[in-house]
Amino acid sequence: MKKTLLFALVFSFTAASLTAQTQLRLDVIPVQGNVYMLQTATAGGNVGVLPGPDGVLVVDNQVPNLSESVVRGVRQITDEPIRFVVNTHVHVDHIGGNQLMAGMGVTIIAQENVHQRMLSELRIPRGGGRFMSQPPESARPVITFDRRAIFRMNSEEVQVFHVPPAHTDGDSFIYFVDSDVLHMGDVFRTNMYPIVDVYNGGTVAGMIRAMQIAVDLAGPDTKVIPGHGFSFTDRDGLVEVLDMLTDIRDTIREMVAGGLRLEEVLEAGPTAPYDARWRGSESWTEQDLIPIIYSEVGGAAPTSRRRANN
Ligand SMILES: [Zn+2]
Repeated sequence: MKKTLLFALVFSFTAASLTAQTQLRLDVIPVQGNVYMLQTATAGGNVGVLPGPDGVLVVDNQVPNLSESVVRGVRQITDEPIRFVVNTHVHVDHIGGNQLMAGMGVTIIAQENVHQRMLSELRIPRGGGRFMSQPPESARPVITFDRRAIFRMNSEEVQVFHVPPAHTDGDSFIYFVDSDVLHMGDVFRTNMYPIVDVYNGGTVAGMIRAMQIAVDLAGPDTKVIPGHGFSFTDRDGLVEVLDMLTDIRDTIREMVAGGLRLEEVLEAGPTAPYDARWRGSESWTEQDLIPIIYSEVGGAAPTSRRRANN
């Protein structure tokens, strides 16, 4: 009797999981040249795909429970095997498919700092640096690099390079030279203010320097895949965010030089011209970004703790 019940429970759970999996379809979006993007309904953790006869190169692979959906998305583009995964950084919505893909024989590659951070519990920037479980050993990159790695496959040169500590200290840009497509991971997002993850080595100064590198690299026809946000964008979209971030940083720096405390800076609203467009999700607003910039430009420690510092 108990066995039957257990079987029934396991079966219904499995059936429910399968139903959920089949419902999770990622949209396949041709970007430019040979490069595609896989995107969820919320445009979180955008995946880059370079298919071809030399095997498929995938950039990022979502959260663990979407990893099978990522594989199915690649299958909509090509039957060639997935050969390489490049992780743009360590966050779980960009490395979550590593374990599944490693089990399929895919080689995982990332900047060395991504590997280092996978040697302990993960943290995310929201919720005051909330801890998450450590990824299994099989999810770790097999090959790491310090400054850059170059792939030559599928008639494409793919430049993977480490940028200054921006979103995290292990951020890489992936530039598909022949297709003229740039995947920037979460250094660039189009759906909310930039997230500077101080718990994983991110800095505002590095974010501005990395954005400048992207602007300098991008030409008039370059297509840019954001880490989060719908569709893709271009050089103008990068310039808009670089100018915004620089302006907010400079405004807060002037306020700090004028002796304002954090509470007074928040009250003064240094992001006000941008809030309507960039406030985005409740989980990351100007109330989270301003204290990070304030601290980095030399502001004194807050006299009272705000939500972002919880
Ligand atoms: Zn991220």
